[in-house]
Order: sequence, then structure tokens, then C-alpha cells
Amino acid sequence: MSETSPKLRAELEGIPTYKPGKPAAAGGPVAYKLSSNENPYPPLPGVMESVTAAASNFNRYPDMACAGLMNELSERFGVPLSHLATGTGSVGVAQQLIQATSGPGDEVIYAWRSFEAYPIITQISGARAVQVPLTPGDVHDLDAMADAITDRTRLIFVCNPNNPTGTVVRRAELERFLDRVPGDVLVVLDEAYREFIRDPEVPDGVELYRKRPNVCVLRTFSKAYGLAGLRVGFAIGHEPVAAALRKTAVPFGVSQLAQEAAIASLRAEDELMGRVGSLVCERKRVVDALRALGWTVPETQANFVWLRLGERTVAFAAACEEHGVVVRPFPGEGVRVTIGETEANDIFLKVAEGFR
Ligand code: PMP
Repeated sequence: MSETSPKLRAELEGIPTYKPGKPAAAGGPVAYKLSSNENPYPPLPGVMESVTAAASNFNRYPDMACAGLMNELSERFGVPLSHLATGTGSVGVAQQLIQATSGPGDEVIYAWRSFEAYPIITQISGARAVQVPLTPGDVHDLDAMADAITDRTRLIFVCNPNNPTGTVVRRAELERFLDRVPGDVLVVLDEAYREFIRDPEVPDGVELYRKRPNVCVLRTFSKAYGLAGLRVGFAIGHEPVAAALRKTAVPFGVSQLAQEAAIASLRAEDELMGRVGSLVCERKRVVDALRALGWTVPETQANFVWLRLGERTVAFAAACEEHGVVVRPFPGEGVRVTIGETEANDIFLKVAEGFR
């Protein structure tokens, strides 16, 4: 056998592999997964039926153009088909966006800490990741992000609400920021948790996209719509952007099961948004209880809460796990805990009580 190994790109050495939230502990008396911001409700029967029907045909490739889903999305959001692109989860679409805009010598700006995939997909492209620290209150520092723009900037991610802090940027500050971004720099509003927002001052990215050719909105069926396992995301952006996204898409990257489930979910939106409403009530209960216990909790508009635990982060996550709940530790920084089933949230609150 040859001693040499294939030549891989040297820069991959320094790039971490994306780490998913841990699965629920197997074998425990109770095992709840609050580590990946998933929807705790099981699939709706109608959505399940559409998936089952599509499953009888999986010897065939899916519709590569996602025509049925694109039509539904076009109608739902009042945007032309030429302004839409789908992908393998919104992380897939984010990767398509980077490929479409950025390569070696270019810069991609985003807040940090934010969604872990941003540094990975940016560095894989060969572009330079420019991370702008959150404010001490864990909010995007949009002034500093605008200051970070250079001639090399090609793409800016604004994660609203931000993962893992749940914090938001509001209309006036976002508009002011967008006014400062040159028209040839693409701003991606990552709204994976959009449906959980109740603060009326947070703008709908789709409104902003309508007014600005350099704004693109990223959405997913993984969270509020409960289809994390099926991998469907989409972008709404102006014609040149959406066309570029279709070029950088993985061919057949959205299965027919996923397409049918997404269509059925859009048609069952009222019921699904009722579930989101219940999770939002549960979020308020959890945040209020944590604050009553003396915790400082940033105002969250997503389906998770952020506890800044610093050095105690890993110990806290281990204590939760001992009680049958898996949460998401960011060692040295904090813990992100998804709002899940009431029983699971109660266990987390009990552990939080013991940690004060
Ligand atoms: N954006 C943000 C901010 C996220 O938190 C996530 C999921 N953790 C995603 C995008 C990607 O979700 P998906 O690929 O399932 O659509």
C-alpha cells in the first residue's frame, strides 16, 4: 500500500466539524432532548399522511425544482417564484449563499457568539470570517458590524433572533444598519426562529427584502413547522441572488418526502402556529421562573433560553443530564436550553434552582 495519502486542502485542518446537539440519554428513567431547538410536538397526522404517500415512490428522484413547494411559498409570502430558492435545511441554503458570494480573499461578517455553522461554512469556502462580538447584553452590535465592512466584505449574516442567546435586533436599529451597508454587499437575515417572535418591534425580514435588493431572508421548516428531520429550508431574495442559489444547490437536495411535508405543513399552518403559541407561553413560564430564582436571563424571542454560566457551564449541563434532560453547553460561556415538553422544562427548572 502507498505511504502517501490524498492531498486535502490544508485549511480544513483548522476547521471544526459541525457538532449537533447531543441526543437524549438512552436508558434513563426519563430522557428529554433540549439540546437542538427542536419542536417537541410529534408530526401532525395530515403531514404524516403526505409523507407516507410520497414514501411509496422513493425509487424515483425528487422534483429537483421543488415546483409544488415553490408555488406554495410564492403564494404564502407574496413573492415571485424567481425570488425563491430551497435547500437542504436552511444551513444548506446558508452554505449555498456563501458559495454564491464568497471565496478566498473575501470576508464574511457575523456576530459572535451566533449560529455555529457560520464560521464553518465561511472557512470551508476559503473566505475570511470576521466575527463581531455581541454586546455585554448578548445582542448584535450592529454599529460595530457596520464598522467592520471593508472592500472585501461580500456577505453579512444577521441572526434574528440570535442562536444561542435568543436576543433580537429591532426595526429602527436594523434599518439604520442596512442604510450603512453598501448595495453590493449581501445581508442575510437568518430568521430560523421567526415564528416564535412576539416583540412587535422586530421587523419581518420579508418586509425589508421588499425594500432592499441586497437583503435576503433565510427561513426553515425545522423549528416552528416541526420538520427538522426532513431537512427543508428556503431563501427569499431578489432575482440575481435566488438564481445564484439555485446554481449552488446540491442537486436533488430536498427529498420528495420533505417537499410534501413542507407543503402539508404550510396548509396546516393554523394548527402548527397554535402549537408555537403554546411554546411561547411555556417560554414565558420558564423565563419568569428563572428570574424569580435570581438568574439573569436575556430577553429571548426564540424557542430556547440562554444561561450565562461561565466556568459552571459543563457542570450545569452534567447535572441536567443526570436528571434526564440533555441541554447544550458552550464550555466556558453558557448553556442553551430548548423550550420543550412541560415535564422536561420542569426538570431543567429544578436543576437551575439547585444551582443558584
Ligand atoms: N439558522 C439558525 C440560526 C439555526 O439555529 C439553525 C439550526 N440550529 C439553522 C439556521 C439551520 O436549521 P436547518 O438547517 O435545520 O434549517
